[in-house]
Parts: sequence; C-alpha cells; structure tokens
Amino acid sequence: MKIYFYNTLSKEKQEFQPLKGKEVRMYTCGPTVYYFAHIGNLRAYLFMDTLRRVLKYNGYTLKHVMNITDVGHLVSDADEGEDKMLKAARRENKDPYEIANFYMNAFLKDIDKLNIDKPEIIARATEHIDVMEQYVKKIIENGYTYQTEDTIYFDTSKLKNYGILSGKKVEEQKAGARVDFDNNKKNISDFALWIKAPENHIMKWDTFFGKCYPGWHLECSAMGYKYLGEEFDIHTGGIDHIPIHHENEIAQAQGFCGKIPARFWMHVNFLTVNGGKMSKSLNNLYTLEDLKEKGYEPLTYRMFNFTSNYRNKINFIWEAMDAAKTALNRLREGYLKHAEGTATIDEKELEELENRFHEAINDDLNMPVAMSVVWDIIKNPNKSKDFQKLLLKFDEVLGLDLKNYQKVENDIPEEDKKLVEERNEARKNKNWVESDRIRDILMSKGYTVKDGKEGTIIEK
Ligand code: AMP
Ligand code: ZN
Repeated sequence: MKIYFYNTLSKEKQEFQPLKGKEVRMYTCGPTVYYFAHIGNLRAYLFMDTLRRVLKYNGYTLKHVMNITDVGHLVSDADEGEDKMLKAARRENKDPYEIANFYMNAFLKDIDKLNIDKPEIIARATEHIDVMEQYVKKIIENGYTYQTEDTIYFDTSKLKNYGILSGKKVEEQKAGARVDFDNNKKNISDFALWIKAPENHIMKWDTFFGKCYPGWHLECSAMGYKYLGEEFDIHTGGIDHIPIHHENEIAQAQGFCGKIPARFWMHVNFLTVNGGKMSKSLNNLYTLEDLKEKGYEPLTYRMFNFTSNYRNKINFIWEAMDAAKTALNRLREGYLKHAEGTATIDEKELEELENRFHEAINDDLNMPVAMSVVWDIIKNPNKSKDFQKLLLKFDEVLGLDLKNYQKVENDIPEEDKKLVEERNEARKNKNWVESDRIRDILMSKGYTVKDGKEGTIIEK
C-alpha cells in the first residue's frame, strides 16, 4: 500500500519511497539535555515513534539517528545568549557533563515509559567534535564562510535558495528572539559554525581555530552525514526548527556537498497550554512525573496524542487527559473481552478493517481515523480471538502494550478501603478539602475514583 507524508520542503503531501530498497534512513533532532523533558517535548518523540512504527508496519527497516545536544545550543535558536548547558551547570552548581548525563538518562527513561521505539543510533554532540571539525573545514574550503576574530560564520548570501524550507527570503529572516545581536555578521541570517571559547568557558576543544566549541546547527549536519550519508530519506523535528535550525542544516549541507540532505522534512506541531506553546521559558510545563502525581500513567499521555494529527496543535487540558484515561481503560477491557471470545469472524470483514487502519496510518499518520477503526473493533458485539489478533497487530503502531496487559483483580487492600470510608465520611460532612485530599491519594495509587449515590467506588 502506498504511503503519503506531508513534506515541509515541497509543502504538499507526497508519496513516500526510500532512496535505497527497503531501508529508510532517517534523522531526528533530539533533546538539549539541560532540564527534564516536558510533555510538549515528549509529543515530538511520540510523533517520531509513530513514524518509525508506521514505516515498520509497511515492511521497512530503519537506520535512524537521533542526536543528544550536550553543547552549543544557545538560549535562542540563533546565535544569541548563553549556552543552555552552561546556564544549567551554573544553576545547579554542577559540571556541564554531569548535567548532560543526568538529564540525558532522565530523558531516556521517559521515552521508555512512553514505550517509544528508540532510534538505532543515539549520538551525543560532545562525542562527535572531530566529525564536526572536518565538516566545517570542508565548508570553509568550499568558500561559504567568513571569519571574525572569534567566530567562523556561514555566509547565507552565498546560497541562492536560503530560506527554502520556511519560504522566507534572506532579507526577511529574523535571527530569533534577539538577546544580544552580533554586529559582526554580514547578513542577519548568517550563523556561527565554530566559535572561540572565552577563557572561563568549560566546554571547549583544541581545534584548527584554537580552543573552540561548535554552533548548535552543525552537529545535526555532521552526524547526519557521518551515519546516513550525503542524502537520506526523512528528517524530523518540531515546527520551531523550520525557520532557523533546519534552514541552517540545509545551508550547511549545501556548503559541504551541494545537496539538501533529506528528501522529506516532517515537523510536529506544538502541545499548547491555553493556546500558547508549552515551554521551559514560559514556565507552563508538566513532566511525566507531574502526570504520575495526578494519577495518570505515561500510556494515557500516548493515548491523548492520538486524538489529533501530528501536524495540528493540541491543547493540553486535564479533562482531555481524563477522557484519554477512560478511553485507554475501555480499550484494554474491550481487548480482554475479545481475548476471551469464541466467535469466528469472516476473513473479508477482518481484511476490510485492516485496510481501513492501514490506509489511515499511511495517510500522513492519521491516528484519529486509525483509532476509529480500533473502536469499531472494540465495540463489536461479537467477541472473538480474531479481533484480539487484529488489535495486537494494530498495537505494533499504537504502542499501547496490549500484549502485556492483563486484568488486575480488583483486590483492594485494607488500608485503601479505609481511605474510601474516610472519604465517604468527609463527603457526608461536606468537608470537600479533606475529600479532595483523599481522592488525590487514591489516584496517585493508581485508582480511578467514581462518586455515586452509594458512595465512592474505586478501581485499579
Ligand atoms: P529541545 O530539547 O528544546 O531542543 O526540544 C526538543 C524537541 O521538543 C524539539 O523537537 C522541539 O521542537 C520539541 N518541542 C519543544 N516544545 C514543544 C511543544 N510545546 N510541543 C511539541 N514539541 C515541542
Ligand atoms: Zn537538529
């Protein structure tokens, strides 16, 4: 079956086929590891995961690289502000490498909890400084740079097509939110490739230009080239990467070898809060840990993401998380009912359902439509192991870990029963603060709490 993906480069949905046989070569811009990932960041990696799973469902193998940025990403995406790693190191009074190790491990644990299928190659920027140095030297040799006393810049006016991804001309480019504009640049869209480190800078390396550190955009071009070659199939990231980071990656690759590195550029839209982007700088973020404290398991957040296509914004509200939680429970219950079922389902009916699901995921990862097929199966009154098998097959894409889901007996320990009694008492006395407090404890223990006429009912 054909696959169609929206390509930011061509600005249309295009049929996807890899350049080489059955292997898809793909690059994803990974996290800057200076703080815990928030669930907005994690939306980006859930998108990456669904893309991987859809490609695998279609019989492709993957060679997929994700970088870990542990140096060079300044406070703005352009060349302004301080290195995020150094800022975090000062905040926490730690070595930047300690910061990077700690938050990288936290990130890897988070993506495990979300059942995200990891890229084949996870590459840290600080372990590829030599690769970046060689890459920069070639761009210099090819005549695309100029240098000031302390920085080697990419000269964007040397390219006819700078701005090809965002559709902006050089003159229209803004160098991000300006923190401290560098007057040494010839064009506002020029960017730093290689920077001389000040005396007190901790992260620096001996290089052809003295003790330096790389500009942020360079790592993705250099590591993409090292592992995937001059041209590969797909490059992914968040939509915030389009106007600066990815534009600059394309510029660097053209300066290096004259080619746009990837054929398909795919970008995930933002998770928002009250309509604004969830971000560290706006201080409106939640982590997986925050969700857990409120009684939501990580897979509920995965389920929440299926309510929207990756190219749309999705607004985070707790009511939607409640709905996702209920939906996930219903899906698991429905799956178990089919697992215990005895009906036989007509081959044609199964094939038709499989086709609808397959068409939806191949239509630019249309998960809301794919989920509607799942619900048709769950709601089917004929309970059958044939449906169970089909759901397991779909779960290769959904990643909801259905095969490991087993009914947990509703055996409630005495201490939790006591909490329910205390809560009923508090409700009788209209002590809402106390009843809310106990509800939160029960939810943090993994129960759903329902209030009925007969009092409170809890279920694991
Ligand atoms: P960073 O660690 O800041 O480099 O971001 C890691 C990834 O998260 C990038 O792909 C960003 O585009 C993405 N991202 C950041 N904020 C959001 C958000 N609110 N919603 C979706 N993706 C985001
Ligand atoms: Zn990148």
